[in-house]
Amino acid sequence: MVKVKKIKVNNIFTKSSFKGYSFVINPYTGCTHSCKYCFACFIQQFTKHIGEDWGSFIDIKQWKGKITKNIYDKNILMASITDPYIPEEEKYKKTRFILEKLKDTDCNLTICTRSDLVLRDLDIIKEMRAKVLIAVNMFDENFVSQIEKTPSIERRLNALKKLREAGIYTILSIAPIFPYLTDFKEIIEKTRGFVREYWFENLNLRQPYKNNIMNFIKDNYSELYDKYYNIFVDKDTEYWYNLKNEIIEYCDKEDLRYKIDFRFGQIRLPLIQKP
Ligand code: SF4
Repeated sequence: MVKVKKIKVNNIFTKSSFKGYSFVINPYTGCTHSCKYCFACFIQQFTKHIGEDWGSFIDIKQWKGKITKNIYDKNILMASITDPYIPEEEKYKKTRFILEKLKDTDCNLTICTRSDLVLRDLDIIKEMRAKVLIAVNMFDENFVSQIEKTPSIERRLNALKKLREAGIYTILSIAPIFPYLTDFKEIIEKTRGFVREYWFENLNLRQPYKNNIMNFIKDNYSELYDKYYNIFVDKDTEYWYNLKNEIIEYCDKEDLRYKIDFRFGQIRLPLIQKP
């Protein structure tokens, strides 16, 4: 049972720490997609949710729709610490409300989700300067269903296809990359017909969820456990540097647009981007 709370906010725009974006919009606090690897759970300590399970609560932001920031021609990311298309969005329609308010503002919006519910709002998105990013990490539905409460990969890819057919700029984010499990080339080969740009993010394990993922690997992929230990406990970064170079070489050869955002703990490698 998800604990739902409504909170009043005067402003929905947060100054962005993401390169290339002026503002971030999070329609909710918390995310019922409950991904076991989600770094956004850090927000619990700032929002009176300490000790609650990630995915067991959401705060719904009650914003009246008054735009108090100058967002003309600004790049805006939606969202960073929630998914704008969690299942509850079907009922509460906060994301849709925000899109309606942004529609005539001439901002440049990038919508990030792991859900095909985004298709519901295609009518508005088509009228905006909007890109849609859908994230996946592999094609193995069984694996994904064990670590996320998200719509299937098949549904997400179908959504990307439909968005592209509707003329929307589509981004496929391969995130997070699970070492030795995520096959980025396979994903690209099967999707490049309807994807304009690829983003790559590595699995970056921090507490409190680091142990959960390590235990998940131990229980389900015991043959990989030592390798994960080497990467995430001994902090050997060689795997990631080799992978980064492999991605660059492959994407350049295939003439793809891409962005690589790799982090190790608090350390962030310089963003690599080919627009
Ligand atoms: S969908 Fe995104 S914000 Fe939500 S739990 Fe998963 S990684 Fe976190």
